[in-house]
Amino acid sequence: MKNTWMKWASLALVLSPLAGFAADYPIKDKTVTLIVPFAAGGPTDRVARDLAEAMRKTLGASVVVENAAGGPGGLIGAAKVAKANPDGHTLLVHHIAMGIFPSLVRNLPFKVETDFEYLGMINDVPMTLIGKPQLPANNYKELMVWVNANKGKINLANAGLASASHLCGMLWQASIQVDMTTVPYKGTAPAMTDLIGGQVDLMCDQTTNTTTQIEGKKVKAFGVTTAKRINTPVLKDLPTLDESGAKNFQVTIWHGLYGPKGLPADVQAKINAALKLALKDPDFIKKQEGLGALVVTDKRVEPAEHKAYVASEIAKWTPVIKAAGVYAD
Ligand code: ASP
Repeated sequence: MKNTWMKWASLALVLSPLAGFAADYPIKDKTVTLIVPFAAGGPTDRVARDLAEAMRKTLGASVVVENAAGGPGGLIGAAKVAKANPDGHTLLVHHIAMGIFPSLVRNLPFKVETDFEYLGMINDVPMTLIGKPQLPANNYKELMVWVNANKGKINLANAGLASASHLCGMLWQASIQVDMTTVPYKGTAPAMTDLIGGQVDLMCDQTTNTTTQIEGKKVKAFGVTTAKRINTPVLKDLPTLDESGAKNFQVTIWHGLYGPKGLPADVQAKINAALKLALKDPDFIKKQEGLGALVVTDKRVEPAEHKAYVASEIAKWTPVIKAAGVYAD
């Protein structure tokens, strides 16, 4: 009898994904909130909601998403997490802006390098250059004819300074040497609404937000921002911007999970373990990959590697931002 009981107990320990970690985390009946620093319905929100669903299973707790949009690069949401109680119940899902903040935002209210605990990277996502459905152009070559005929009148939507869409739009303008008027939103979900409505002309955005709109012919697609084409049913025939003539144009967005500085090491370990299991969840992988995102399978899922990667991104983007001469206060 005793033996049988012991067998079941040890089997339960093996099956319980997070056995052996901080016993009091998550705190019973307390929700884990993933802060998204952009509007609901956009790509950062998308990855956070998919992740929340997967982590509900792996953490065994209620995991919800809260949108705290505003400020350059989602500064408001990021600052909220930097100041949060370090108990593991307030976490941040954020993107490449973590690598751009230090060079782009003057008087940053936190230090990217030291005011967060790095809990692991989530995914890499290509971007697409898309346009309003009313544009006469149907491919990149025709787009450039339209751009050259409309210089000085073109609007480019983005999610505000230091956002992924801003970075991509800035690089594209530099690559074609044409200045456009940028129109900032609190995320690319509201920007997408205006693009579909024809209030703005163009936008760069993650494939996780654009795939469905491209498939539904709600927007026009002009290229992907990666070195290679994206192998999804909707995007596989869309040329890269580089092959279309915007030479050496390459930008990939990544998302990571962060907590406030001071999160106890055992809680960090438990969250990282739950993240790693979530990244192996077939539902999560299917949802992300169907929209062109690649779920991280390499060492960047380890907190130290995540931190080193963000540091390398800061080093990579600092000269680009400085050369572009842009900044935010
Ligand atoms: N894709 C947005 C950006 O350009 C953010 C978002 O709405 O998720 O940074």
